[in-house]
Amino acid sequence: MRPARALIDLAALRHNYLFARDRHGGRALAVVKANAYGHGALACARALAAHADGFAVACIEEAEVLRAGAIEAPILLLEGVFEAEELARVDALGLSMVVHDANQLAMLAGFRPSQPLSIWLKFNTGMNRAGFAPARARELFADLSADGRIGSLVMMTHLARADEPDNEATAEQWRCFRDALEGIPAPRSICNSAGVLGWPQLRADWARPGIMLYGADPMPGEGHGLRPVMTLESRIMAVRALQPGDAVGYGARFVADAPRRIGLVAMGYADGYPRVVPDGTPVAVAGQASRILGRVSMDMLTVDLDGIDAGLGSRVELWGGQVPVNRVAEAAGTIAYELLCNVKRARLEYVGA
Ligand SMILES: *Cc1c(COP(=O)(O)O)cnc(C)c1O
Repeated sequence: MRPARALIDLAALRHNYLFARDRHGGRALAVVKANAYGHGALACARALAAHADGFAVACIEEAEVLRAGAIEAPILLLEGVFEAEELARVDALGLSMVVHDANQLAMLAGFRPSQPLSIWLKFNTGMNRAGFAPARARELFADLSADGRIGSLVMMTHLARADEPDNEATAEQWRCFRDALEGIPAPRSICNSAGVLGWPQLRADWARPGIMLYGADPMPGEGHGLRPVMTLESRIMAVRALQPGDAVGYGARFVADAPRRIGLVAMGYADGYPRVVPDGTPVAVAGQASRILGRVSMDMLTVDLDGIDAGLGSRVELWGGQVPVNRVAEAAGTIAYELLCNVKRARLEYVGA
C-alpha cells in the first residue's frame, strides 16, 4: 500500500473547537466547509457532535453529506441557496441559511416551508463581496421578523482583514455593523478564526471559527496554543547517492555540489503537496529537520538525507506537529487554508476518536 496519508487527530480538533468557543464566549458554529478544510467533513462533524452548537458549510451539497451521516445539530449554509429549487431541501433537512442578496430574497418570496425557517442575514461592512448594505438592516429585520415563515434571524457580517492585528479596517467593519444594528433585537455573528483570536472586542452571540479548528493559526507566531490536526506524511521509498554535478528531478532544479544522499518520498502534487515550493522547504525525516531538494513531481518528491539518520521506509512528515503547515504555506506563497483543503489521494486516517 502506498504510504502517503493524512493522519487526522480528532482529539486535537475537539480541543481547538472548545478553545475557540471558550475564547469567544457564546456559541460557535464549527465551520466544516470544503470537506472540513480537507480533513473529512463527516468524520470531523461526528467528532465534534457532542460539543458543537452547530456546523457551517458552503452549500447544500455539503450539508446533505452531514445529514446523511446522522448529524442532527444546526447546519448553516454560508452562501445560502443558489437556486429556488434548493429551498425545499433546506426545509426538509432543517438547515439554516444565509441570505445575502436580493436575488435570494426573491427566491424566498413564493416559498411555503413546512417548518419555520432559520435565516442568517448577511451585511457587507467593507469586504464588498456578499451581503446587503448595512443601511437596509432595519427594513430587512422588520420585514423578515414579521414574516410568519421565519422562525429565527441572526444578523451577521464577515471580516476581511482580521488577521492583521494592527489594521484599522476590522474596527471600522465592526463600528459599521454595530451602528447599523443599533437597537435591533437579534443575535449577532461577526468573528471567523482571526476575529476570535485577535479581536476580543468583537465578541457576539455566535462565532464562526474555521481554520483554527484545524490547528493552523491565521496569525502565525502569536502562540495561541492551537493543536495541529492534520499530519501529512509518507515514507522513503528509495535512497540515492548523488555525485557532484548530479541533477535531481524535472528541470534539474537541484544539482549536487558534493556527494550527497537523498531520499525519494511517496508524496507529490497529486496528493495536494504544493509543486511550487523551493529547495529548502522544511520537512521532517524520522523526526529530524530536513528539506525538499529538487522539484516536487506528481507522485514523488525528494528530500535531503545528509546528516540524517534515516533510510528506506523512514517516516517523512510534510506538515503536522513538527513542520507547521503555515511554514510550508509560506514557502509555497499561499496560506494554510489552501494547502489543507487541497489534500487528496493521500488516505485520511483518524486517531483520537
Ligand atoms: C469560511 C468562513 C468562516 C471561517 O473562516 P476561518 O478564517 O477559516 O475561521 C467564517 N465565516 C464565513 C462567512 C466563512 O465563509
